[in-house]
Order: sequence, then structure tokens, then C-alpha cells
Amino acid sequence: MIENSMFEEEPDVVDLAKESPSYPIDSDDVVYEPRSSRLLVRGLGENDLDEDEEDYESSARLLGMSFMNRSSNQRSASSSYTRQQPSGSCSMPSAKTTVVGVLILVVVVSIFMVIYFVPGCTFTRKGCPKTNSTMNNIYPNSTSGEIFPWAELRLPSSVHPVRYDISLHPDLKNMTFQGSVSIKVEVLHETKIIVLHSFDMNITKATFEGQVVNFLEYKPWQQIAINFSEDLKKGTYGLNIEYTANFSNSYDGFYNSSYVDTNGTKRVLAATQFEPLAARKAFPCFDEPAFKSTFLIKITREPNYISLSNMPKVKTTDLKNGLQEDEFKESDTMSTYLVAFIVAEFTSYSRNVSNTTVSVYAIPDKKEQVHYALDTAAKLLEFYNTFFEIDYPLRKLDLVAIPDFLAGAMENWGLITFRETTLLVGNNSSPIDKQLVTSVIAHELAHQWFGNLVTMRWWNDLWLNEGFATYMQYMSISNVFPDLDINTEFLNVRFKALAKDALNSSHPVSTGVSTPEQVEEMFDSVSYEKGASILLMLNATLRDGEFRKGVIEYLQKYNRSNTESEDLWNSLSQVSKQNVNVSEMMHTWTVHKGFPLVTVKRNGTQVTLSQEHFLLNAENSTDDSSLWHIPLTYVNESCSVLSSCKQVFHLKDKTAILKLPAKVKWLKFNFRSDGFYIVHYDVDGWKDLIEALQNVAVLPCEDRAALINNIFALSRLGKVSFRQVLNLMNYIKNETETAPLTEALFQLGQIYRLLDKRSELNLASRMKSYIDDHFGSLMESQSWELESSVSKMTLRSALLEMACSLNRFNCTTQAKRLFDQWVDSNKTFQIPSDLMTTVFKVAAQAEDGWDVLLSTYKHSICDAEKRKTLEALASTQDVRKIIWVLQKSLDGSEIQTQEFPLVIHTICKNFAGYLYAWDFVKENWGKITQKFPVGSFAIQSIIMSATSQFSTKTHLMEAQNFFSSLGAKGSQMRIVQEATETIKQNMRWMEKNLDTLQHWL
Ligand SMILES: [Zn+2]
Repeated sequence: MIENSMFEEEPDVVDLAKESPSYPIDSDDVVYEPRSSRLLVRGLGENDLDEDEEDYESSARLLGMSFMNRSSNQRSASSSYTRQQPSGSCSMPSAKTTVVGVLILVVVVSIFMVIYFVPGCTFTRKGCPKTNSTMNNIYPNSTSGEIFPWAELRLPSSVHPVRYDISLHPDLKNMTFQGSVSIKVEVLHETKIIVLHSFDMNITKATFEGQVVNFLEYKPWQQIAINFSEDLKKGTYGLNIEYTANFSNSYDGFYNSSYVDTNGTKRVLAATQFEPLAARKAFPCFDEPAFKSTFLIKITREPNYISLSNMPKVKTTDLKNGLQEDEFKESDTMSTYLVAFIVAEFTSYSRNVSNTTVSVYAIPDKKEQVHYALDTAAKLLEFYNTFFEIDYPLRKLDLVAIPDFLAGAMENWGLITFRETTLLVGNNSSPIDKQLVTSVIAHELAHQWFGNLVTMRWWNDLWLNEGFATYMQYMSISNVFPDLDINTEFLNVRFKALAKDALNSSHPVSTGVSTPEQVEEMFDSVSYEKGASILLMLNATLRDGEFRKGVIEYLQKYNRSNTESEDLWNSLSQVSKQNVNVSEMMHTWTVHKGFPLVTVKRNGTQVTLSQEHFLLNAENSTDDSSLWHIPLTYVNESCSVLSSCKQVFHLKDKTAILKLPAKVKWLKFNFRSDGFYIVHYDVDGWKDLIEALQNVAVLPCEDRAALINNIFALSRLGKVSFRQVLNLMNYIKNETETAPLTEALFQLGQIYRLLDKRSELNLASRMKSYIDDHFGSLMESQSWELESSVSKMTLRSALLEMACSLNRFNCTTQAKRLFDQWVDSNKTFQIPSDLMTTVFKVAAQAEDGWDVLLSTYKHSICDAEKRKTLEALASTQDVRKIIWVLQKSLDGSEIQTQEFPLVIHTICKNFAGYLYAWDFVKENWGKITQKFPVGSFAIQSIIMSATSQFSTKTHLMEAQNFFSSLGAKGSQMRIVQEATETIKQNMRWMEKNLDTLQHWL
């Protein structure tokens, strides 16, 4: 799977807020009165709301509450969270206090009793350890009241599925489906129970070996069980279940979706998204990745629809009621999360690629937008067939653009599903749009081997799927599509992964998980981006060809089975001819969370190297003795640009001495930033490097970008002063390459946004001047014409987006000119696609521009254009429009709900809306978690977007209060710790550096 929001946090796109409201809002200016009264917020004007504006009231009221909470004298008396309780609960505070007190007492006593009576079961995030005889006490009650015979989240291993025979009849009019599943199971150890997963379905009949049996259900763990009076002997048995269910109303399971075609007709379709835990919503099954099995799928549909599944269709049968049944070939052995089926009115183009029919499907209106994807998939399939030396094993490969899809794409075996943006390419799409589509296709195709053919045993090793697919996506594209400048993108991704992994709330690449929320949480930057980064580091350390050889060996050895991290390292160890124990080295990168900070001190030819955990918030650190085996690379002035210049030193201990053969002027470690660590130099070391940079070409551009990235990170850690950062940045006026420039813009933009949101208006405006001074001439020299180089486009879109955000006259004038030309030509004039977001964002600030864009959003059939339009709509400074966009994207009426995380992300970049967005998230948390699973990437993105701009104690407390109020709806999420930590980090940075900024900016 690839998460869509991963493309939204592009570090190279910076969005500085427009002018702050003309009357800066101050906590003391806000008076909040009860709901029946009116809100007075100076700066927004007195909000005397009309009847028809009533919709806005609650969020505006909430804004008042947010601001009021910033005022410490009122905070204790009126927390916004207590105010959200039903009014009745506040009527008798003394009674309420008593009840709460008694409840707390009961809960505490119960917890103690449970702990006392359940020896061997500690309540950690990992849940209870394995059952033992004394655990009988805590077998839960099933729905019927009987004891449920299983007390673990993981299924017992005594019974395995061998083959599923699934018949489904989706009713797209009534939004329900009927199903029957026959599972051939194998009993490996004698047992009296069979336990499997099932979620939210109405089981109408169940038989075992032809005999009707009774099912017990334990809903919290989504399990059902059959109790047998006698042990089942080893052997195979038949289990049949008939059921009905509603389509899922979130984006997982078997869900329905609708769209309006260009004739204005509403069309409906049904599709699936099972990874990680939602196959159980479509059919009862053993829903864990290690329970591989074959699947034979039949789908009943109306004749005007088509159906698709993992395997090719073998026959269609006319049924008596005018319906038709499609039957698909029995699948290869595979995990349940990879099963997929779709019923829709799609059309396709196909092509044969070495014994496989590759097809790309879309709705008929977008039929002609599939050609780029078809070409790309064909080229990449050939690349992977050759690279892995194992041909893609199925005879067909479908790539399908689904109009309503939350993730970026999903690698279901033989039936890959995508968002329209990540698969379709229209006539006006730019190479940057193509870069996105190519990346997602490359990622999902890599999964057909990494994930589908060889699968991680359990979700703790999700990185084996995702880290590998992410790495292969960059590697394959740099080979097959060198023009797409994918290496710069990969460098940004590594910087992003370092930033996330520097927090104490991060986790080891391979980490224990048991609850559904923890499984969802594994889909994060660590599994994907850090996973890919450590594979790059390993490949750069091994000799040419060794990495590929090891991968082939691994795929052949574990073909169609399940693995753990060690299996991969062992395969790579076996092929490595070097004096490095791959398994021992890589183990240190997968079991420790975080990454090392390497400190370099040079004295003549003697270099002292030391490593420590790079941890931004060391206060709660529990893990600071970690040591990594670091394949340290370095270059010096005698040879610094070519790969052959690179020298390697293996740092395994806390400190080590490196002896240089001769004196050098300077040393730069982590050549091309291929390694997953940050390097700090002593004062002279930095000085020498800064001096060396007077000749920009002395280092490859990846190294220059990494110096910028590392020094900002070190300033966050408190290792260097902000003055040193600015010293390094002095060279930037001579910089022309995309990677260092976009990294510098990103870092400065982050600081600017924090200053702006703290209403440090003086400093924010000085930061603007600094950016003007250092990037102004480059901004002015950018063209607004069509451009073909991806690298140039990436750079100019970052520069011009920044320039227009800063209200630079030339930028906004040019943007308006292009927008007017586009409107005057009835939208036939081609705005360069990489500048579209910038142009639209400028236009969206005017009333008529916003209206034009809203109509474009509603009617465009080009999804890439639609998303850029939506970003512009959400970047408005008009509070009422901001609230409208928030509401419409959550309820899905006029803006697709799948875009809600993007909407929050965009609004939160700007001063005008970030507090509204935060309040909206708090107020609507229940609804949000109905649409997006707790812990999922979408939820992670929403929380981080809404809170990462806070840097005051008041906001910290407010966020903590909110998170702790969530209870089962998310208080335990890792992202909650990450958010809290990020706010604390922002606070600390501000405390430390505000004075320096006053002085040096
Ligand atoms: Zn993936």
C-alpha cells in the first residue's frame, strides 16, 4: 500500500501564510459567553450571526474557546473540553464530582484486582502474553453471554485455512451484500475450537462438515469461534458460512462509492480495501498475513456492470433472475489482505507484456487518461521481471483508478487499486504529475514480489513490505525513467524520515504490535521511509551486484511463504563477499528506534569519531545506550565528487579513532547522504566546510543539501547556535541546484510559520526579508512558461510558491495574469501544471477567483487538477470559506471525504485557519474516526497537521487535554505522543532561539 498523504508532506513545498489578519487576535481580546450569547473576537469583527450563518457558529464559538484557553486566568474555570459535555451533565457539579470519584475508585480497584488475579499478564502496549491455564479467568464473554473460548488477539495456530470458495452478491441499490464462504481448513494440532475473524456481518447459517454449528462471537476482537465437544483430529475439514452485511461506510472492507458522470448521472460502484485488517469485513476468514491460502471467487452482478478480482475471469453464467455470475480462476496461495474485487462500470486498455496481460481501468469519462499508466506499468513490469529473475507469476495484471479511495494505492495481487490522481494522466499533466504516477506504479509493482510473493509473517515486520517497495520504487525509476529526477525526491524522503525518527515517540523499524490500532500505526514514515533509507545504506555499503544477488536469493528461498527481518539479512549475508557481517550490522538498524548522531573531531591526521542517539527530546529517553554499526563514509578536498572518492570506516563502538594517511583541509562525512545518520563537526570542522563551500561545486548537491539539513537539525538539538546555521546559509546565494535550495526553503519556511503563528510579527517579517534577500533574485529569474525538466520544475514551483506567499509583487501579478488568461480562454489556456497550485492559491484569495475554482473543482474530470484546485480553495484567508471547506470535506457532500486530510493539512499551514481546523478536529473527532480508522495514516496526518504548528504552553496543555479525553478513540496512539513531543520541541526551540533571531536576522 502507499499512503496518499505521503505525497502531501512534500518538504519542498512551503506555504508561508499571507498577511496576518489586520487586527492580530490576542487572547485578551476574546470574550466567550455561553452558546446562547454571541462571540466577540476582535480581529474577526463582532460576529453577529444571521440565521443562515448559524452553521458557522459552533466553530466560531470554538475558536473563541481556543483563544480563551490561551488566557491563563480563565483556563482553569472553563476548559473547552468540559464545555463539550452534554449540558445536563454540568447541572450538578458536586453530584458529578462524587460520581466521577466513585467511578475512578471502582476502575482503579478493578484494575488492581485484574492484575492481582491474572498472574503473568502485564498490561503493556503489547497486550497480554500467551495464555496459560490460569488465564481461564479472563476469557471474555461472547455476544450471546457464553464464555468465548479464546483470549488472544492473534488467532490460534492449530487450524489453518487451505482454500476459500467465496460467492458474493453485492446489491448496489440497497448497499448490502450477501455472501457465502466455504473454507477448507487443516487441523494441525488436535483442538476443540476453531477461531477466525468476522466483523459486522449477520451470519445466517454455519455448517461444519455439513452439520449446522453454533457460532460464538466476541466483537471487540472481531473474532468468531466454534466450540466442539470433542477434539478435532488432524486432517482437513469443510466449514461453510452464509451471511449478509452492509457495505462499509468507511474506506475499508467491501465499500460502495458513487460519482457523477459528465452527463450528470450518478453512478455507483463497489470496491475493496483490505489491508491491513478489513478482509474480515467482507467475508469470515483467518485474517492474518501468515494464514496464506488459495481463493476461488464468484461474483453475481447486473449485466451492465463488470466485475474484477485478483485472477482472470474463467466464465460468466446467466442466472435466472437476469443477473450474471462471474467466476475467477483459483488464486495462488496468498494472504487475505491481498484479496480484492470490484463491481463497477469501468472501461480499459490492455497490452501484453511477457505472458501477462496488463490492463488499466478507469470510469468511461476518463478512459483516455490511462495510456501513460499502461506504458509505465509495462516498462516497470519488464524491469522487475529481469531484476528479480522471477517472472510476475499471474497471467493478468489490472491497474484500476477508483473514484473514491483513501490510500494512494493498494497492491492487491493482480488487481492493483489506485486513486485517480495516482494513476491517471491527462493531456495537461506535467512531468511532476507523471513522476507521482510513476512512483506509485513502481511501488505497487514492487509489492507483487515484496509482499505478495514473499510476505512478512506479522505486521511487526511491515517494513519488509513497505520499506522494500519504497526503496525499489526509487531504484527502478532511476533506472527506467532517469528524466524524472527521482533521486532528489528520494533525498527529501530520507530527510523527512530522519525528522520523524528523531522523536522519542518513534519506534524501531521492526516492533511488536498486537491491537488493531497498533497494526494501523505501523503504516508510517518508519516502515516506509526509514525502511527504504536503511536499504539504500546497505546497498551503498555492499559491492556492486551483491544487494541484487541477495534479494534474488531471498525471493527464491521464501517464494510464496512468510518471513521475518532476519531472513532477509541472512540471505544478504550469504552473498556478501565483504568483511562485514550484514546481519549483525542491519540488526542494529532494525531493533533500535532512532538513528545515530556522529560527532567528528579532527586533530591533524587523527579523527575522533563518536556516536550517540540523536534524540530531540531527551527528557523522557529510555533508550540512550543504543549503539549502531555505522558504515561511515567520507571524502576530502583531494577527491570529493565521484563515487570512487568515497572511503568507508565502520563505526561500531561508542567512540573510535580514524587515522588519515595525510593532512586534509576538510572532511565531509556521509557521502551523498546515503547513510541514515546525522553528522556534527567540531567548530573548526564546520568552519572548514563553510569555507570550502565558497566553491559550490566542491561537493555533490546531495551533500550540500545534507549539510543544510543536518545543521538545522543540530540547531534543534541545541548542538549548534542559530548563528552557525546562518553562517552556513550564506553560501546559498551562489547555489543553483534543486536539492539544496528546496531544503533551505523548507527549513526557513518551517521557522517562519512557527514565528507567524506565535504572532511574532516583527521576527516573521524579518524572516521574510531574509528570504527575500537570499532567494529574491532566483525567484525573479524563474520562467512562467511551460517547462520540461523535472528538476527545474521542482525548483521553480517551490520558489514561486514561496514568492507568492510572501506577496512578492511580480509573483502575484504573474499568477493573476495566468489565471485571467485561463478564465478568459474558458479554461483551455494551459497553465504550466507545476505552477497551477501557486496560480490557483493566489486566485483563491479573491471572491470571484474562489468561485471559479469551486466550480472547477466540481466539474473537472482531471483529478490532478482537482486536487490542486482544492488546495487553493482550502488556502483561502476567509474564515467562513475555511469552515465551509472543513464541513463539506468531512461530510463528503461537495468535497470528497478522502480529501479531508489534505484539507486539514492545507488549512493548518495558514494563520487564518489553523485554530479553526484544530477546533474542528476536536469537535468532530467521533465523526472523523468513523471515516478513518484510529491509528491509520490518515488520522496520523490529521493530528500532526492540526498540532505541529503549536509552540506555546497553553496549546500544549490544550492538546494534552484533548488527547487524554479520547480514551479508546485514540489516546494511546503513538501519533499523540509524537504531536505532544513536537509541540514541546517547538516551545524549546523558540525559547532558545528567539533572542538569537532578534539579533541575527
Ligand atoms: Zn506499499
